[in-house]
Amino acid sequence: MTNGERSLYNRYQQRRKDNGVTNTQTVVNTKPACDFGCGETAEYDGMTKMGPWAYMCQSCFNVNGTGELGLGKGQRLVVKEA
Ligand SMILES: [Zn+2]
Repeated sequence: MTNGERSLYNRYQQRRKDNGVTNTQTVVNTKPACDFGCGETAEYDGMTKMGPWAYMCQSCFNVNGTGELGLGKGQRLVVKEA
């Protein structure tokens, strides 16, 4: 997949979200810090394997997340565009 194709794909995914088709993304003004204290910026707000929800960076999500996104599972954080 080229960068151009990826950009189009991302836009398509965003449109799906805007239409309420999926609940895998949430729009935020700024991404918060990862709740696991690793010093990274969070990329996900989702359920952890332990149960509680947390803001997680990519690597903490890989380790501690359920690996699933969607309503009641988790969302990927997307910074609101000006
Ligand atoms: Zn982290």
